[in-house]
Amino acid sequence: MNEDGDSNRFLKESKTIGCYKKLDELSRDEKYRFKNYGICHDCKQMNTGHAWCNKCDPGRFLREGNTSGNAEIDKFLHEAQLRATSYYESLEWISFDRLADIKPIGEGGFANVYSATWLDGKPELNRKKERSAPITVALKKLKNLNNITEAFINEVIEH
Ligand SMILES: [Zn+2]
Repeated sequence: MNEDGDSNRFLKESKTIGCYKKLDELSRDEKYRFKNYGICHDCKQMNTGHAWCNKCDPGRFLREGNTSGNAEIDKFLHEAQLRATSYYESLEWISFDRLADIKPIGEGGFANVYSATWLDGKPELNRKKERSAPITVALKKLKNLNNITEAFINEVIEH
């Protein structure tokens, strides 16, 4: 990426966010953030990490109604998102209808394991919230239904 390309892109993007600085008026840190992290379209500030605004993105799924339906799991996801530093590594809830081609691949003591296609793909390390093509993922269906929330959270912490 050359300076001219960045300048033009900054001009274009900064108009949409109402920023009236020119690229060469930005501090070194602001330049770095613009180039690598992009801009948050909610608060109109530069993101704090790759495609991630630590003010607007944690808990977005709750505001948009994409919840797990389980308050404890939602709280766990929200807290993990508060600690996230990029879209790429943020924990998210995937609803069942975003998975396809579910096939059993194994059985363990505590879980049955399936392969599935995650239709949305995984978040990319980028300055915009972009995703990969659909990818194959492993699904675990936990057998311990007595305390499914605790079992789920322990599984996630282990990985
Ligand atoms: Zn924001």
